[in-house]
Amino acid sequence: MPTSLETLRAADTAHAVEIAERVWWVGHVIPDDNFQCHVYLIEQGDQSVLLDPGSQLTFKHTLRKIEEVVPFGAIRWFVCHHQDPDIAASMPLIDALVSRPDAALVTHWRAHALLKHYGLALPFWLIEEHDWRLPLEDRTLEFIFTPYAHFPGAFCSFDWHTRVLFSSDLFGGFTATPQLVAVDETYLNAARPFHEHYIPSTDILDYALTQLERFPIAAIAPQHGSIIPAHLIDFMIDKLRHLQCGIYLLGQHDTDIQRLSELNRTLREITETMLLYRDFRDIATRLLAVIQRSLPVAHIDYYAQLPSEEFLALKAKARFVGIIEPRVPEACHFFGHTLGEWERAHQHDPALRDHWLHKQGFCMQSGAGGAAVIAIPLAVQDSEVVDAMALMTFDEQPVIDENAAQMIAQMIEPLKVALEREVIYRSIDLERERAYQRSIRDPLTKLFTRFYMQDVLQRHLALQERNMAPPVAALMIDLDYFKQINDHYGHGAGDRVLEQVAESISKSCRSADVPVRFGGEEFLVLVIGQGLDGAVALAQRLHALIEQQPIDIGESEPLRVTASLGLAERHPDEAIDALIHRADTALYEAKRAGRNCYRVAGQGIA
Ligand code: GH3
Ligand code: MG
Ligand code: MG
Repeated sequence: MPTSLETLRAADTAHAVEIAERVWWVGHVIPDDNFQCHVYLIEQGDQSVLLDPGSQLTFKHTLRKIEEVVPFGAIRWFVCHHQDPDIAASMPLIDALVSRPDAALVTHWRAHALLKHYGLALPFWLIEEHDWRLPLEDRTLEFIFTPYAHFPGAFCSFDWHTRVLFSSDLFGGFTATPQLVAVDETYLNAARPFHEHYIPSTDILDYALTQLERFPIAAIAPQHGSIIPAHLIDFMIDKLRHLQCGIYLLGQHDTDIQRLSELNRTLREITETMLLYRDFRDIATRLLAVIQRSLPVAHIDYYAQLPSEEFLALKAKARFVGIIEPRVPEACHFFGHTLGEWERAHQHDPALRDHWLHKQGFCMQSGAGGAAVIAIPLAVQDSEVVDAMALMTFDEQPVIDENAAQMIAQMIEPLKVALEREVIYRSIDLERERAYQRSIRDPLTKLFTRFYMQDVLQRHLALQERNMAPPVAALMIDLDYFKQINDHYGHGAGDRVLEQVAESISKSCRSADVPVRFGGEEFLVLVIGQGLDGAVALAQRLHALIEQQPIDIGESEPLRVTASLGLAERHPDEAIDALIHRADTALYEAKRAGRNCYRVAGQGIA
């Protein structure tokens, strides 16, 4: 547990300060120096630990403060988080003082290679040979590899007992007015220049912060600047994460470094997107966000030709859900040509010549009102022929420099892969959907098939077993003298009649009803949930509608047809075949009665 903030703020830095349970600050404030050296002591009886012992300038003061807490001889472990003189130059002084044979200098092998040049008698204890942990009396120190500053062998230490992170250079700061504890968010003003100048690159800092975030840190004890209390930790990590440091900082006047690093980041994100995501919607959404950071793209739409010759349109505004379009979309007039033809067209066709043509393989077309479209032709399905296209729309003409061109070109291969996958998925889906539709819909009349009717009835019967089924009636409809229409006007005219009658039937049904093409010119409607009265009303409506409906068969006069209808309401537990048979019998009665009328089963003349 860290010491309370009030106590720490009031602490006298002329003496050792206990910053957390048996964790002591034993550093020294050098006057007129904004590069303070903080040294920390973990008091563990004769197994005590001194972290980053400090410089030759400060060691005298540090030694005095150590001895306020424990005799110097109680220290067994000397941890050097890296090899810098402000951390380690006191080691020769320490070496001369240490007399116990089990004392050791704790560090990483990369630091060892440098620190050994002090010619110390003290043995080294390498963290990577000890599972990155030092078990102590009442706590364990865990070492975290954070090649953070200007040194690839650097690490930090985390005390699992007090949850204090000894962060060495990380979270350090330049402070003209030394403060043992950071007061508020303004500490960032001290930490920012320190990191900008001592961390070679943003990526390195980012990596270190990610390592540290995994620990439940209660306080950060850096080597320079101020101790960071719990409530400022998230803020500091967040702010440091996006700091431009090292080469990036220098690069502020050298746009090349800025530019290259930004381009690099974008290219990396494009690759990452392709590796991480499988669903085209995710890929397209992320790519759009990545590109929008560098270019003012309003949206990107994708078009791909399916093996069925239709087009799959994946539009940003429709969240890339995908719509099947029967014809080539307006903007994609290069489908079906080879990439070579496409390129030659841009060079030679006067209508296209002034379109900006880039050697990377895409062109820009100016649109209305200053808008512009960049068209990226893609050959997706294993051919040289353009069968997919990405269209980037801009609200105003963008500046496409070398970088932007490279970035767009970088999208081509990943997009080909993603679109190819999507074309395969969609073709399978489409085929499955169409096979299903074929099995449930009659192609001429678009009414349901008997196959589908069976399916519906099965579900209906399942409901019945649970006493939930609504009433069902069967209405059978047969056209009168239909054969004569075929014989007289031809089969095509007969088909028109069937289509028209089917449409009348569809329109008259409720959504719960199931209209079926039962046979050649015989239709069946399963009237669901209305009882006999509703079914009779439907029969009357249909009977009148079919009779009154003029049918255009391409002759001078439209044709009129009539139908006979038979109706039966389902008895409890009656088999469907029996129900249909009764409706058919009623229909037969209507025919016998002279046609153009309806009969209800078991009710005689209606
Ligand atoms: P009825 O009044 O007794 O019902 O006489 P009908 O002529 O309507 O009855 P019939 O069963 O003798 O004739 C039905 C005709 O429907 C025979 C068949 O050629 C025709 N037909 C069946 N399916 C189709 C089709 O898909 N298109 C066309 N044009 N005719 C069809
Ligand atoms: Mg008939
Ligand atoms: Mg018939």
